Amino acid sequence: MKNVVLFLISTVISGLYATTAQADTQDSILTGTVIGTLQSVDYGSNTPSTKVNTRECAFDGDLNTYVAAYDRSFAWVGLDLGEPFVITRIGWAPANRNRGDERILLGVFEGSNSPDFMDALPLYIIPEKGTYKKMTYTDVTCSKGFRYVRYVGPSDQRCNIAELEFYGHAGEGDESNLYRLTNLPTVSIHTEDNVEPYDNVHNINALITIISDNKLRTDSGTVRYRGNGSLNFPKKPYRIKYNKKHKVLDSPAKAKKWTLINNYGDKTLMRNLLANELSRCLEMPYTPYSQSVDVLLNGEYKGNYQLCDHIDVKKNRVELVDTLNENQDESLSTAFLVEVDARASTEPSWFMSKNGTPITIHYPEDDEITPEQATYIEESFNRMEDDWQTYLDLNTFLRHFLVGELSGNTDTYWSVYMYKHRENDTIYVGPVWDFDLAFENDKRTYPINDKKNYIYRSGGSVCGNMQVFVDNIVMRNTDAKAKMLEIWGNARVSGINEYHLLDFVDRLEEELQESQKLNFIRWPIMNEEVQQNPVVWGSYEAEVQNVRRFISERLLWMDQKIGYTFNPTGITDASLESTQSYQIFNVSGQLCSGNLQHLPKGIYVVKQGRIIRKVQVK
Ligand code: CA
Repeated sequence: MKNVVLFLISTVISGLYATTAQADTQDSILTGTVIGTLQSVDYGSNTPSTKVNTRECAFDGDLNTYVAAYDRSFAWVGLDLGEPFVITRIGWAPANRNRGDERILLGVFEGSNSPDFMDALPLYIIPEKGTYKKMTYTDVTCSKGFRYVRYVGPSDQRCNIAELEFYGHAGEGDESNLYRLTNLPTVSIHTEDNVEPYDNVHNINALITIISDNKLRTDSGTVRYRGNGSLNFPKKPYRIKYNKKHKVLDSPAKAKKWTLINNYGDKTLMRNLLANELSRCLEMPYTPYSQSVDVLLNGEYKGNYQLCDHIDVKKNRVELVDTLNENQDESLSTAFLVEVDARASTEPSWFMSKNGTPITIHYPEDDEITPEQATYIEESFNRMEDDWQTYLDLNTFLRHFLVGELSGNTDTYWSVYMYKHRENDTIYVGPVWDFDLAFENDKRTYPINDKKNYIYRSGGSVCGNMQVFVDNIVMRNTDAKAKMLEIWGNARVSGINEYHLLDFVDRLEEELQESQKLNFIRWPIMNEEVQQNPVVWGSYEAEVQNVRRFISERLLWMDQKIGYTFNPTGITDASLESTQSYQIFNVSGQLCSGNLQHLPKGIYVVKQGRIIRKVQVK
C-alpha cells in the first residue's frame, strides 16, 4: 500500500511535495516531488514521450516499471525533499529489460541544495551490475544535508533505472564526512544548463568541486576540451579555468588555468607521474604539478585523470625574471616562453626558425605580445640555434634530454618548452611535458632497449631541425658529453636507480588501484590496442609490470650508452647513524630484513628516500 501512496504523492499532487520522514528517526524512507529529465522514450516507437517510462516510474514501488530518458546521456531522476536531509542510505534496482543490469554500472548519486545541481556533491557511484527485480542498498557516508537528491545514469544508458529509495533524517548536516569515488581526490564539474564541453575553444561556465581527504572546495570558472592528439580519443582531456587564481589540492602554484590529462592510451595511468619524478630526480628547476583524480562531469563518471599545472609563466610554474640589467636597452629585450612545436602553425603566435624549426610563442601571450617582441624572440631563437655553446643553457638542456631518453619518450623533440629571462641572453629548456607514449608505449619504437641509439635517433618524432641540433650537442660535442656523464652519475645515486624508481611505481600502482578499476569499466580498452600501444598486455598489473621491466633495462642501457659505471659512493663504516628510516638490499637487489648491524659481512646497498649508498659490513 505504501508504494501506491508514494506514487500518488509524486505524480498527482504536482507542484507540492510531502515527506514521511521524521527528524528524530534515522533511516526513514524519504519522499518528495519527483524531479529529473522530463522527456522519456517510448521504446515501442523509439519516439519521445511523457507518458511511458517517465521519471515517476523510479518511485512507484514497482520493480517492473522503469525510467528511460529520451536523452542518451546526462539523464537523471531524483527528488526535491522540500528541506535538507542528511542521506544515510540509498537503494536501487535496475530496469527489468535488455541489459538493464549493466546499464546502472557507474551510475552516480548526488545531493545538492540548488535545483540545478551546480553545487552537487557525490553520494555514491555504483561499482557493479545490478540484479533484476531486486533492490540493492548501501549506506551513505556524506554527512552534509541536501534538499535535492538524484541518480544520474551513466553515459549513453538513458538513465535506465527501475526503482530508487533514499533514506535519512532532516537537517543541514555538516562537511565533516564527504564521499570520494576512490581513495583519490574527486573532481566534480557541473556546467551551466548541463552543456557538455565540445571543443577546445569555447569555454563553458561551470562550478568545479574538489573533494579530498574530507576537504571540500567549490569554485566558479569554465571548462573546455584541451590538447591535440589526445582530443581524438572518446575520453576527452579538459582544461579548467577558474575565475580567480588559487591553489588546487596541494599544488605549489596559485593559478586560474589547470589541465585534466586523460591518459587514454596510457593504460598504467601513471606515465606522466613517473616522468615527473624523473624530472625531480634530475633536478629540473620546475616540474609540473600533477595529481591523479577521479572526474565527474554533471554527475557522469568520466574516468581517472591527472589534474596538472597548465604550462604558463608565473610563480611556482615557469618563473621568468622579467626585469632588466642596468645596461640593457628596454626596447631590445623581453622574457619569453616558447615551444618547439610540430603543430606551431595552428597556433595564433608562432614562427619558423631560420633552420626550419616551428616555434610557438606562449609568453608574452598572443593578445599582449608586440611586433617588436615577436621579432626579438625570433632573433634570440635563431641566434641560439646557430651558436648553442653561447646561448643555450646546457645544464637544463641535458637534464631535459635525460628525462626524455630514460623514459624512452618518442615525443621529446616533437614538443620542447624553452624560456629566457629578460636579464640575459641564455635560453633554458623545460619543463618536461607529455609522456603518454613513453615507457615502452609506442609500437613505432618498441622495444626501445633493443635500439643501438637514443630514441630521438631511432624512430622518435623529431620536429623541424631538432635532430641536427640535438646531434650537435649529445653526439658530437665532447664537453657536452662529459657534462652529461657528470649529471647522470650524480642522478644515479640520488633517485635515478631501481631502488627508488621501482618503489615509486609500486606506490603509484597501489594508489591507483581503486581508480583504475572504475576507469577501465568506463573505458573497457584493456584488451584493445589504442593510440600506439605496442602490446596489449591484458591487465592493469601486466601493463605496470611492462613499465617496471622497461625501467630496469633502461637504466643499464643508459649507463652503457653514456659510459657510466654504476658505483654508488662507497662507505666503509657499517654503523649508519641516522634518524631517517632506511632499507637494505643485497647486491642482487633483494630486500634484506633487519638493520645493518645484524647482517652478515658483505657489501650492501642502503636506500634512504631517494638517496642510495653502497656500504660494507665488516
Ligand atoms: Ca518502478
